[in-house]
Amino acid sequence: VRSIGILGGGQLGRMLSVAASRLGLRCHIYEPGAAPAGDVAWRLTTAPYENEAALRDFAASVDVITYEFENVPTSALDLLEALRPIRPNRRALAISQDRLDEKTFLNGIGLATAPFADVPRHEDLPAAIDRLGRPAILKTRRMGYDGKGQIRIDDGPGGWTGAPSILEGLVDFTAEISVIVARGADGQVAAFDPGLNLHQGGILRTTTIPCGLPARVTTDAVLIAAQIANALDYVGVMGVELFVTPQGLIVNEIAPRVHNSGHWTQAGCAVDQFEQHVRAVAGLPLGDGRRHADVVMQNLIGDDIDQLPALLASPRTQVHLYGKGEARPGRKMGHVNRIAG
Ligand code: ATP
Ligand code: MG
Ligand code: MG
Repeated sequence: VRSIGILGGGQLGRMLSVAASRLGLRCHIYEPGAAPAGDVAWRLTTAPYENEAALRDFAASVDVITYEFENVPTSALDLLEALRPIRPNRRALAISQDRLDEKTFLNGIGLATAPFADVPRHEDLPAAIDRLGRPAILKTRRMGYDGKGQIRIDDGPGGWTGAPSILEGLVDFTAEISVIVARGADGQVAAFDPGLNLHQGGILRTTTIPCGLPARVTTDAVLIAAQIANALDYVGVMGVELFVTPQGLIVNEIAPRVHNSGHWTQAGCAVDQFEQHVRAVAGLPLGDGRRHADVVMQNLIGDDIDQLPALLASPRTQVHLYGKGEARPGRKMGHVNRIAG
């Protein structure tokens, strides 16, 4: 493998391109919208996913295709898959695109999720609320991220998301953690240490590593992530978000790609999640993902970016900026990794 095609040109594609370039590999980014990754990639195609000629040209220029964004339309994937291998595979992508399929799959391999009900139409909501009780969260089956497309239902009839949805019972968790797991083409699995995640307004705020939980929790979390990767015959890096409860771990969702809660690995490991993903999809051996430092990753969201001069002056602080233009509220502009010591 000499070149990798990446569907999606956001910050994740950008950091994947940097990691690939360090290994002497070239990245071709395909992105219909704004593409911060275009600055660092070997090639950038800006075209809609409906443009078959552009998709064919993209596939022809690379040896393998991966993605940093899981909501690529099926029609584009069908066309690409006939031309080049897509890693991680289509099944992993399809399952993580749809919250109903995702939870059904997870329960099917014996893993606990929040209790859920299918709510295809608004008129199905009252029965779902009767079944699951309150409080509950209504979520669109597809396309949601950063807490978008979610409505919490405490009392009253609740609202409607405007699209086929699921209702989830509220999990009374003591902590949220995530495992960034990598699986190679040969089936080898390597997991990074689980991180403790804090969300604000549905958006990841910080990831702290180590997470401070006992080994019986962190080991279990890693085993769950590996079980999911094996069940999907997964190749690449995957993020697994978990709720910690007194009754054990509950899987919140999986992301079939590098994950925001894995950015700490850039400062904490010899081989970070981006290089690990590139190695996996390129068919190279996985690297050493052991943690050599304690790290707190903080996202720079919206006008957090105003603190940049102070952050740049801070000791033991790694600053990552995504090269996005305007700092709108809720927009991820960059992140910092603070190394403890
Ligand atoms: P992401 O940006 O991580 O993809 P998302 O929009 O897919 O986010 P979720 O991960 O489903 O959203 O939910 C966002 C956050 O809301 C969770 O990290 C958790 O804090 C809270 N949350 C979601 N579902 C539940 C639940 N069933 N019980 C309790 N809290 C929940
Ligand atoms: Mg999500
Ligand atoms: Mg999430």
